[in-house]
Amino acid sequence: MKRNTFLPFSRPDIGQEEIDAVVDVLSSGWITSGPKVEAFEKAFAEYVGSPYALALSSCTAGLHLAIALLDLKPGDEVITASLTWPATVNMIHLCGGRPVFVDVERDTVNLDVSWVEAAITEQTRAVIPVHFAGQACDLNGLRNVCKSRGIALIEDAAHAIGSEYEGNRIGSSDNIAVFSFHPIKNMTTGEGGMITTHDKDTYERLRLLRFHGVDKDAWKRYGSAEKEGYDLLLPGWKYNMTDIQAAIGLTQLKRLDNMIERREKLTMLYDELLKDVRELTLPGYVSYSVRHACHLYTVIVDRDKAGITRDEFMQEMKKQNIGTGLHFLAAHKLLFYRKHYPIPDGLLPETEYISERIVSLPLYPCMKETDVQDVVFAIKDILTKCKK
Ligand SMILES: *Cc1c(COP(=O)(O)O)cnc(C)c1O
Repeated sequence: MKRNTFLPFSRPDIGQEEIDAVVDVLSSGWITSGPKVEAFEKAFAEYVGSPYALALSSCTAGLHLAIALLDLKPGDEVITASLTWPATVNMIHLCGGRPVFVDVERDTVNLDVSWVEAAITEQTRAVIPVHFAGQACDLNGLRNVCKSRGIALIEDAAHAIGSEYEGNRIGSSDNIAVFSFHPIKNMTTGEGGMITTHDKDTYERLRLLRFHGVDKDAWKRYGSAEKEGYDLLLPGWKYNMTDIQAAIGLTQLKRLDNMIERREKLTMLYDELLKDVRELTLPGYVSYSVRHACHLYTVIVDRDKAGITRDEFMQEMKKQNIGTGLHFLAAHKLLFYRKHYPIPDGLLPETEYISERIVSLPLYPCMKETDVQDVVFAIKDILTKCKK
């Protein structure tokens, strides 16, 4: 039966604990970056297993800072997937680099290491893989390629909070990883991001660039400063996180593993209930050892098999009172990148195939099993009608 209430594609799992934590900060007299941010950074660094973590206003801000550290010169290239949120590509372009797109694997939507290797030139400065949907890329492969060529590796870990690769959490390796706490991600701070690194100098530089280039955070300056005044070491941005956000983050981080377990359960239920639906292609899983953070549940709607295009499918789902998401349209097909970095059709065949057919089904911790059943019912209803 059709649902009589709308099932959103995603919904943050915010409980009384988060609300109380925010109220505490609001009543404390200090609401911008301060003790909560420090505590959140410490807890996050411990959780992922990295010596340094820096809280930011967004993942996009983190990508910006990480790429800014590369000090790109005209002609410098950065390899990434076209199948990502525009932020990844925008930051490469805005930092003066040339985005070089590499195709993804059709089943996992992750970068293929051999294609990354083939795309490396004298101008390549960095590789930015995306752990799509929270399933880790082949990190050993990518590390070997980057290390042997002296190229930076920056993980876009927006989907991968709580993900593991061969027993280690994403964010624990010695290269930079950048996380997102946007409300649709696995944990949220309203908006926010985190960057991890093993290198003390990198950490110090990122800290400066996060807050104007001034050598002390506001809390230290006005709170318990050892010395008066401030100095500017280099011009920076203003990408700090507030204590209000960090208070939400601290609570969410404590619940993260439970929230991911819930996502895993719902993912397994989708896999089970959809396995006989031949009109759809279900997400693929890697053969190496990972903990999939189950950030997204994506399916491929191919018109030849399903009798309906992805866009029509999304409209039909909406009519059935079910929201869907689109992760992602290929960046090289978006107006700006089409114009400035034109790529002939067919050069990124898997990316183009997926971009035209992928759709994300509702998936979030407070979703019920019956909600998954409703989604599957709607899908079967739509596909049966299309066949007639
Ligand atoms: C969400 C997302 C981002 C951006 O995160 P923000 O915190 O919104 O800046 C970057 N890359 C990918 C792959 C994402 O999904």
